[in-house]
Amino acid sequence: MAAPALKHWRATLERVEKFVSPRYFADCNLRGRLLGDTCPLAALSSFLTPDRLPYPEAVRQHFRPAQVGDSFGPTWWTCWFRVELTIPEAWVGQEVHLLWESDGEGLVWRDGQPVQGLTKEGEKTSYILTDKLEEGDPRSLTLYVEVACNGLLGAGKESMIAAPDPEKMFQVSRAELAVFYRDVHSLLVDLELLLGIAKGLGEDNQRSFQALYTANQMVNVCDPAQPETFPVAQALASRFFGQRGGESQHTIHAVGHCHIDTAWLWPFKETVRKCARSWTTAVQLMEQNPDFVFACSQAQQLEWVKSHYPGLHARLQEFACRGQFVPVGGTWVEMDGNLPSGEAMVRQFLQGQNFFLQEFGKMCSEFWLPDTFGYSAQLPQIMRGCGITRFLSQKLSWSLVNSFPHHTFFWEGLDGSRVLAHFPPGDSYGMQGNVEEVLKTMVKNRDKGRTNHSAFLFGFGDGGGGPTQTMVDRLKRLHNTDGLPRVQLSSPGRLFTALEGDSGQLCTWVGELFLELHQGTYTTHAQIKKGNRECERILHDVELLSSLALARGAQFLYPAAQLQDLWRLLLLNQFHDVVTGSCIQLVAEEAMCHYEDIRSRGNTLLSAAAAALCMGEPGPEGLLIVNTLPWERTEVLALPRSGGAHSLALVTVPSMGYAPAPAPTSLQPVQPQQPVFVVQETDGSVTLDNGIIRVRLDPTGCLTSLVLVASGREAIAEGAVGNQFVLFDDVPLYWDAWDVMDYHLETRKPVLGQAGTLAVGAEGGMRGSAWFLLQISPNSRLSQEVVLDVGCPYVRFHTEVHWHEAHKFLKVEFPARVRSPQATYEVQFGHLQRPTHHNTSWDWARFEVWAHRWMDLSEHGFGLALLNDCKYGASVRGSVLSLSLLRAPKAPDASADMGRQEFTYALMPHKGSLQDAGVIRAAYSLNFPLLALPAPGPAPAAAWSAFSLSSPAVVLETVKQAESSPQGRTLVLRLYEAHGSHVDCWLRTSLPVQEAVLCDLLERRDPAGHLPFRDARLKLTFSPFQVQSLLLVLGPARTETLPLGL
Ligand SMILES: [Zn+2]
Repeated sequence: MAAPALKHWRATLERVEKFVSPRYFADCNLRGRLLGDTCPLAALSSFLTPDRLPYPEAVRQHFRPAQVGDSFGPTWWTCWFRVELTIPEAWVGQEVHLLWESDGEGLVWRDGQPVQGLTKEGEKTSYILTDKLEEGDPRSLTLYVEVACNGLLGAGKESMIAAPDPEKMFQVSRAELAVFYRDVHSLLVDLELLLGIAKGLGEDNQRSFQALYTANQMVNVCDPAQPETFPVAQALASRFFGQRGGESQHTIHAVGHCHIDTAWLWPFKETVRKCARSWTTAVQLMEQNPDFVFACSQAQQLEWVKSHYPGLHARLQEFACRGQFVPVGGTWVEMDGNLPSGEAMVRQFLQGQNFFLQEFGKMCSEFWLPDTFGYSAQLPQIMRGCGITRFLSQKLSWSLVNSFPHHTFFWEGLDGSRVLAHFPPGDSYGMQGNVEEVLKTMVKNRDKGRTNHSAFLFGFGDGGGGPTQTMVDRLKRLHNTDGLPRVQLSSPGRLFTALEGDSGQLCTWVGELFLELHQGTYTTHAQIKKGNRECERILHDVELLSSLALARGAQFLYPAAQLQDLWRLLLLNQFHDVVTGSCIQLVAEEAMCHYEDIRSRGNTLLSAAAAALCMGEPGPEGLLIVNTLPWERTEVLALPRSGGAHSLALVTVPSMGYAPAPAPTSLQPVQPQQPVFVVQETDGSVTLDNGIIRVRLDPTGCLTSLVLVASGREAIAEGAVGNQFVLFDDVPLYWDAWDVMDYHLETRKPVLGQAGTLAVGAEGGMRGSAWFLLQISPNSRLSQEVVLDVGCPYVRFHTEVHWHEAHKFLKVEFPARVRSPQATYEVQFGHLQRPTHHNTSWDWARFEVWAHRWMDLSEHGFGLALLNDCKYGASVRGSVLSLSLLRAPKAPDASADMGRQEFTYALMPHKGSLQDAGVIRAAYSLNFPLLALPAPGPAPAAAWSAFSLSSPAVVLETVKQAESSPQGRTLVLRLYEAHGSHVDCWLRTSLPVQEAVLCDLLERRDPAGHLPFRDARLKLTFSPFQVQSLLLVLGPARTETLPLGL
């Protein structure tokens, strides 16, 4: 051996790099020796199809001869290759691979089963035919490779998030057999890790030099042409990696993972195949590495695999029993964390957890949402109600302005529920297992000294792919090496158990986890948002009416299976790139079909339930007026009359019940309420007045005054106008459909109307209205009807927009005569406050926020609420309430928001607090109109109510049949406290209740939750924003039902 020499750090490093480089000196370096002899395929043939065919059908087709270099396509087609091969006899004793490099995403089929994904982008370009060819092994084989004509991340034209290029063509660039040298691979892994350590720890660190000199010495002793020199080099590496770190070292829990977006830059149907490609590969890794653990979320994807690839599903079940395949998340899909309603979020878990229990024998313990654009403050309570106390995400690392202060912390929700939250400090769910990432995980951890464990999720993701053997090899080598954190192949369960075991010093974050990016997703794709809101309502109404029909009629069959289908369809579209509008056009179109399906099947179920509900009741033929909300309502309703006409009627319908439709003759009197007066002034302005509020519109349709009549209080700021449409330039930095940037506010341009366009519509009495047209731009126009009903505390703005813009953002503003440092926004099962000022960077970063059905700006004694029926983007800056209406992003879907759009918002000035004034109820009313359902036979003569509550603070949100319901006669009721108060509440019911007991959100009985039920009522006690569920076991249906005065 040569005498020790002085070494130049940089030159030594690069020497080792060249030794492992695939690019330089591969003629003489170690990398060049990874593969030995090669051999062409015996035969290659292919069959091209626009369809996604099942295997048995595909292999029956006519295959034509094909060659390496052939191109196929276009985008979204599939090319099936028949690969016939014969391994040379001379290769006995060797490891033999099929090398396959092609564009697109491949899946290998062997003996009719999918066995492995082959994707160049996912570093999977070889399939192991045998790890050692034995004498007498069969050497001839036929495989199929199913290649989807799309990349891991879709087929964007020029950039990833551009709309897909429909003309893209694909090519096979390599298909042959080769001898693979495992010992060379192993040395390459060692050398790359040593290089990583040398670079990662840097020139100030002595361990860095030890790594570098070890690698240099390995190059010295290793002759790539002489495999007998390899063991000496291997021994040097082993000595280095075997030098242990101290006991205090940080521990990294490396978990295999594969983030598969359920639809995004590719359609839903491609995701089914992405799951097969990714998970067959994961199964192989689990077979070959007994300590490798793969965490997998999203029940929907597993359900797809179960029905399309039953063999693979069975393998996953086996590995789940061994603890290697770990279902996580507990939800149906990884849904958006902001937009779904509270009930929809509960259903994500209900459908998900029940699926996991049924298929894998247990429910998930961790909520898993690595890639969602913010997290509702109600999630901790929902998680806990679904048997989950642990939460994993990382997306907050994307916040543009403020850096979130923790990676491990307790997250406390709106009601005070706490869960343990962990964000992998490497800020990724797609790690590769290299040293840089391992060091980053340790160094970036914001909770150093408080906790000593971190998650490390490795595997290609977003579009699937998952881990590779090389990643596993790297992480195993780093098990316990001085200078680096310890790395364990671990599971989410082991990580959280370790975190829980040492959580005494952890901090608590209270309230929502707001992502300071992607704030355009509250608005993008208005039709999807509208479909979501509408379908949430339809399923609510179907479940309620079906439950009531079940309770009252022995004959009625609750449509449990159909409702499960429809719910799953709705939940699917709440995926974090669908309801958010950040998907390609193909996906948006599918989503619209899904919503249409829910609408039509839902309405059929609604009619069936209504018919069953009034069966056997005496009364005139006609209509049943149904109120699906838990309080009595008196509202103006348009009733269908013979000949397709409608007539307005003021109807009173009891809480969660029905009333007979008034006969046409009894329609007129509106006393004792004051009728609506409509006056048009000579200057063209219009005043609408119903005795509760008085609305004045100027001749262009702007709101110049809104007065609460009883107090004479003006709600519009002095010198300003409301209902002001404003346009903004909306050009983000990259993520077009996702982001609206703070600087868009600097481009605000009010849309000015033309005087003389305002006209009176409905002339008053039951309803008064005025309407106008507004040219927004040369290409876009809007028409609006401003409607005030008798007895109604809010004025509605029915809006139709023809929208043809590029990179513009339309909002409507209401400057209020109200001063408050905070505004209130509805969220799932409650509401929260956000500042109206931009004092700090945390306030400023929330220049655009999300809300559900209402937002409110109140000062002591007075406030102004802005309600909506399908919008989610909002903001209040100073005293200006602003509702975000339409955007015009061009990527990944240039058609997003284009065309005709329809929506309604409403304005409600009020005395006192929003709670006391009934803002929450008003927003429900706007979203859940009274239903006029045709009764097939005689409609009931008397009004009837199923449920009512003694406290206005409590909302009975959901009534449904229990998932497991003996004889079908158990209902689940879900209620929540909506005011933010401690309250006792009586629930009264006219249903034949035999037993009432509290349960969790998964409908599991609380053993101590028995509720005394007397005099047709029971008592419940709530804390602020608490959600409670109960099971009501019903007695036999009564043959006749007496109207019950409540
Ligand atoms: Zn995602």
